[in-house]
Amino acid sequence: MHPERIRTFLQEQGEPAYRAQQAIDAICSGRVLSFDDLTTWSKGLREKAAAELPLMSLKEKKILASSSKVAFKALVELADGNSVETVLMSPKPGLWTTCISSQVGCAMACTFCATGKLGLMRNLTAEEITDQVLFWMQYMHVHNMEGRLNNIVYMGMGEPMANLTNVEESLQLLTDPKVFNFGDRHISVSTSGLVPGILRLGKNWPQVNLALSLHVANDIERTAMMPVNKSFNIAKLQAALKEYFTLTNRKVFLEYILLRGENDTPRHAQQLIDFIEGIGKPHLLHVNLIVYNKTGAKYEETPREQSRGFADRLRKAGIHATIRKNLGRDISGACGQLAGEK
Ligand code: SF4
Repeated sequence: MHPERIRTFLQEQGEPAYRAQQAIDAICSGRVLSFDDLTTWSKGLREKAAAELPLMSLKEKKILASSSKVAFKALVELADGNSVETVLMSPKPGLWTTCISSQVGCAMACTFCATGKLGLMRNLTAEEITDQVLFWMQYMHVHNMEGRLNNIVYMGMGEPMANLTNVEESLQLLTDPKVFNFGDRHISVSTSGLVPGILRLGKNWPQVNLALSLHVANDIERTAMMPVNKSFNIAKLQAALKEYFTLTNRKVFLEYILLRGENDTPRHAQQLIDFIEGIGKPHLLHVNLIVYNKTGAKYEETPREQSRGFADRLRKAGIHATIRKNLGRDISGACGQLAGEK
């Protein structure tokens, strides 16, 4: 649902502007699944809208629920037949977060990531991005699920900063009080390290959270794991984060997937500490240590004891670090596992 399409449609029908806002409010509540549910509209108007205006730019193809019912993954089909995955999870009772995709596939080719193997098919439109949020609001309504969807993370398929024009339009729609009305601080955008995007987000969206997928803090190993490091290496990332802090003074999340023997040794922990200290504001950086989910890549997860040791080293150096709870593993909906299907 793009609000502009609804406004234009109603204008063409000679309806007053307030009718459009009525409809947008109702649709964005997640309680309207078809134009037929818009009882404030006349029957004729509802029928015309149903015939001419698709309410959603995507439709459900498959849904998987984790055994604990705290994570759901949907494969949704777009109008051109492509599919993307989108996830709903509840890190705390009553609070729900959706992890949304920004592209069909991804060009960044990170070696630990299922989506990276697909290559890039195309960017998602702003409407296709926000409709993933609407999709889960509708899902929660239909299934009488308790709680509120109040957090959105751009950490699904794709590199958001490589589709920043559409991502920014989607941020506009999600935060617009007359459309979805989410708070900027309830939204996080992740990047594998596209520096121009980091700075643009800092300038245009200083209250939106930034997550940087770092995963290893030396150039040789990072370039092997994440080809983006050839263009934007460790020194450039440090400089970008310094500038980002000047722009926003907001905390940044460093995402770090622990991979057995690859980036989880005491040497790697020290390199991560040096990376953070080199930026100069360690209190503004929070390290999320992520348990690796097998994606068919050559990697293995770090044993739990060793993960704790890695986190302890960071903490002893005064760095905030948490080992992230892994929701939705049994549905391949956790980090790096979103691969979609055509
Ligand atoms: S981790 Fe993110 S940026 Fe890297 S290939 Fe996967 S989806 Fe793309």
